[in-house]
Amino acid sequence: MTIDPLTINNILLGLAAWGAAFLATLWVSLVIWTYRDIRRRARDPLIRFLAIIVVALLFLPGIVIYLILRPARTLEEEYQQTLEEEALLHAIEESPLCPGCGRHIKEAWTICPNCHTKLKKPCHQCSKLMELSWNLCPYCGTPAPGMRRENLTMDEALRTIPVEEEPDKPENNEAVQ
Ligand SMILES: [Zn+2]
Ligand SMILES: [Zn+2]
Repeated sequence: MTIDPLTINNILLGLAAWGAAFLATLWVSLVIWTYRDIRRRARDPLIRFLAIIVVALLFLPGIVIYLILRPARTLEEEYQQTLEEEALLHAIEESPLCPGCGRHIKEAWTICPNCHTKLKKPCHQCSKLMELSWNLCPYCGTPAPGMRRENLTMDEALRTIPVEEEPDKPENNEAVQ
């Protein structure tokens, strides 16, 4: 049985056509994949265009170059990280700042440990912390020492003065214990 040279030729042609079709499909698939992938990783149209061009022109070596150079994180992952960072930053910013040195302080502090600025004052009646600008305790209604309530009589004003030093003591004892 002799093989017709024409048949061999046809088989070779068929194989070549199949190979070419496979390569063409692979090429198109890689370009589409790159397009989808870079769209998730870069917002810049120029970078997107360059990525597709590199893969389209260089084919398999192009995809290797793309995989090496593409942004490591997707936009989604970057967004998630930004959210986490912002949440962290927000938590830090929530704590008030010392007006003296600008460092973060705690709500319950009366004096800044860093620059010794007075931050809050205790009510001389109930010992709860008051803002320095308040001249009346919002918890028990006692006027701050040295401050006079409107329509406060001289008698009442004199009565509040001796009380001034008394409530400091229970607070100090608590701190010692
Ligand atoms: Zn300070
Ligand atoms: Zn008070």
